[in-house]
Amino acid sequence: MSKFVYFFGKDVTDGKASMRDLLGGKGAGLAEMANLGIPVPPGFTITTEVCVLYLEGKKYSEEVLKQVEEAIDKLETLNNKKLGDTEDPLLVSVRSGARVSMPGMMDTVLNLGLTDKSVLGLANKVNDERFAYDCYRRFISMFGDVVLGIDFEKFESLIEDKKKELKVESDTDLDAKALKDLAERFKGVIKLEKGFEFPQDPKVQLQMAIDAVFDSWNNPRAITYRKLNEIDDSWGTAVNVQTMVYGNRGNTSGTGVAFTRNPSTGERKFFGEYLINAQGEDVVAGIRTPDFIDTLGNKIPEAYNQLVDICKKLEAHFKDMQDIEFTIQEGKLYMLQTRTGKRTAAAAVKLATDMVAEGLIDKETAVTRVKAEHIDLLLHPRIDPNAKLEVVAKGLPASPGAAVGKVVFTAEAAEEMAEKGEKTILVRTETSPEDIGGMAAAQGVITVRGGMTSHAAVVGRGMGKPCVVGCGDISIDTKSGLFMVNGHTVKEHDYVTIDGSTGSVIIGKVELIDAEINEDLKKILQWADEIRTLGVRTNADNPADAGLARELGAEGIGLCRTEHMFFGEERIPAVREMIMAEDEKSRRKALKKLLPMQKEDFLGIFRSMEGLPVTIRLLDPPLHEFLPDKEELDAKLRELEASGDSSGKINEVKKVIQRVVSLKEINPMLGHRGCRLGITYPEIYDMQVRAIMEAACELTNEGMKITPEIMIPLVGLVKELAITREEVCKMAEKVMAEKGVKIDYKVGTMIELPRAAIVADQIAQEADFFSFGTNDLTQTTFGFSRDDVSKFVPIYQKAGIIEHDPFAVLDQEGVGEIMKIGISKGRSVKPDLKMGICGEHGGEPRSIHFAYDIGLNYVSCSPYRVPIARLVAAQSTIDSRK
Ligand code: PEP
Ligand code: MG
Repeated sequence: MSKFVYFFGKDVTDGKASMRDLLGGKGAGLAEMANLGIPVPPGFTITTEVCVLYLEGKKYSEEVLKQVEEAIDKLETLNNKKLGDTEDPLLVSVRSGARVSMPGMMDTVLNLGLTDKSVLGLANKVNDERFAYDCYRRFISMFGDVVLGIDFEKFESLIEDKKKELKVESDTDLDAKALKDLAERFKGVIKLEKGFEFPQDPKVQLQMAIDAVFDSWNNPRAITYRKLNEIDDSWGTAVNVQTMVYGNRGNTSGTGVAFTRNPSTGERKFFGEYLINAQGEDVVAGIRTPDFIDTLGNKIPEAYNQLVDICKKLEAHFKDMQDIEFTIQEGKLYMLQTRTGKRTAAAAVKLATDMVAEGLIDKETAVTRVKAEHIDLLLHPRIDPNAKLEVVAKGLPASPGAAVGKVVFTAEAAEEMAEKGEKTILVRTETSPEDIGGMAAAQGVITVRGGMTSHAAVVGRGMGKPCVVGCGDISIDTKSGLFMVNGHTVKEHDYVTIDGSTGSVIIGKVELIDAEINEDLKKILQWADEIRTLGVRTNADNPADAGLARELGAEGIGLCRTEHMFFGEERIPAVREMIMAEDEKSRRKALKKLLPMQKEDFLGIFRSMEGLPVTIRLLDPPLHEFLPDKEELDAKLRELEASGDSSGKINEVKKVIQRVVSLKEINPMLGHRGCRLGITYPEIYDMQVRAIMEAACELTNEGMKITPEIMIPLVGLVKELAITREEVCKMAEKVMAEKGVKIDYKVGTMIELPRAAIVADQIAQEADFFSFGTNDLTQTTFGFSRDDVSKFVPIYQKAGIIEHDPFAVLDQEGVGEIMKIGISKGRSVKPDLKMGICGEHGGEPRSIHFAYDIGLNYVSCSPYRVPIARLVAAQSTIDSRK
């Protein structure tokens, strides 16, 4: 018989940490803590499996209902209290808990089990009427919000009214009578909104709450969060029903959230916040600004010391930073959660290297603890330390990194502006899970209220979004579309800059500078290099990029697109002259002008990459790309004709127009480009090969080791490669003879057409290496024009036809299969044929993983993605060992 309900508590625990998929992160963490003898209020977890079944048919099997019933009985026996009891009622919390944490996404109900009758029992039992009604009003409003879907504001505004009526500042100033009255009014809200009474049977309350938690898996914000974080929709959430403990039982009670180390910086220091005399949601919701955890030691020392000890124990046990929740009830500590803590990129790197130094984890584990996204973020810009700043306010530095953008006050505005390509900073009093889309769309977030564990802070860190929270100096006036801050007025769409590492809010646009790789990250990447077998090269076509990539760890150039060298004011006239040439002779004349420039480029690139292989691709794009725009030319012609020009310019322009028209192609991407150009105009490749070889010979004479790899693009037929190769070799040999130097050069090809992959055994005969051009290979496999996909790919994604843009994330089942054919056919002829990937996918983590799995020798990507590729390459090796 399947087990659907798992109990946890001292000596009665069914689950354990490894059952996270079934019990969710929270459920598994609670079970493990109970197993470790850590004080956890008892409760039970209804599995994610039940959620999945429930969501399919909106009902439960007899067996599930029976197991829940049994668990309730057991909980009642264990606590020696009964749900709904009029003398000493059992109260529970009902909380969601998915396999991976989704902060603020799913809903929680506290104090469940209170009714008009049992609240009296609670008041009597604890001899505290105020406390009992505080719990009751909280429960009704949470139930109204989470279970019944009533806007929480409806309850909040009644609290505000009450405070005004009684002329008090804070919720804690409301007395029993006021709270009792609020509970009544809250019930009135439910009756008014829903047309039925607030349920007075605790079992009905419980069932409704469980349903609501399961249903919340599919609420819009949870769906958005999953989309943004690529969490599988099919997992479902578990529900945890747990005995309530109270942080709102006076000044020796409290509740908090903490991390065993600083999740922002990674510093080895207990980090967190708490509120005295409060319940859990008060901290997370950012309604009151909490105190730093260090000060808890002065207020409730015994519980604090025990908490510190438990954190040490948890870290030693889980071997990672933990994110915990606790409640202290009248001096006694209870743990409500432990899970692997979310961390910033900087913290991930520091935690990993520190933990290796402490002997807690090994280097291999450290390499898996840093994610590709972390490195991406660390390579993000920050504020220039020398910039003059007008810091107008400081909030809490909740999520590091700097961001510049135009002020917007709503998530929708941030999303709308992002669609127009505008950068924004989202300024909110506090964020809620509804704002998640806007947070993702904005460059950064400022909130007026809330602490380091408020929604904005947690989500911001998770997204790697610079975030300043609790910036109380700001007062937002949404009606007038502005905010005031320390004497300044900032209007909607004015620029602001934020520094999420210092909490600074700066008026105006501040220059940001690129990030650097710190010592800890260097260590991680060095360890990754020790582990990985997949090579990492870069796509670079100038000495500066090549040099940068080398600093970032590139082991050579995998793609130098020579056409990029054809642009620029100085060169384009010569390029155009070459294209305009009517015969080979005049074409060669123009090419001669280009030769020294190309050679100069290669000298620079070879120098930057000395000792490493440099793959240079001969000219690839259609020639018309280098000619002026037809419309511009027409306009110029009209202008000249109108001015009665007699200098002969009219004829010149007409000739260019003629050439532009003759070069125009219906499908240029499938037209006269790649090796087709080289075959029809061999003198172009001749010039390029001469430039490459002359540069290589000269540097070899200077004592450098130069290894050029000449690459032929867009080959589909073996004869294309054979002819071009012969021509290339002829020229190479000629230059070497002229210079009296021997260079170890190679001639290879791109595999970027399906046909090339399919006849790769033939092509391999003529190739010293293969490089998969997955941009063109994706284009030609899908038949999607790479320049026009934005018109329909987003629609395809929305409609669920494709998951990812195949030009960003390699399509493994289609394009990937074709690559596999190419690899196996190529190696069937030359078992050691070196193969890489140089399309954009070479820097995309999933695609890099795939490149490793299918046996490529290296990936090649843009310079800033080189560190990512190094890390992911190592992680692929580690994964393959599992
Ligand atoms: C490719 O097609 O994948 C490639 C790298 O070449 P390009 O993007 O220049 O066509
Ligand atoms: Mg290509």
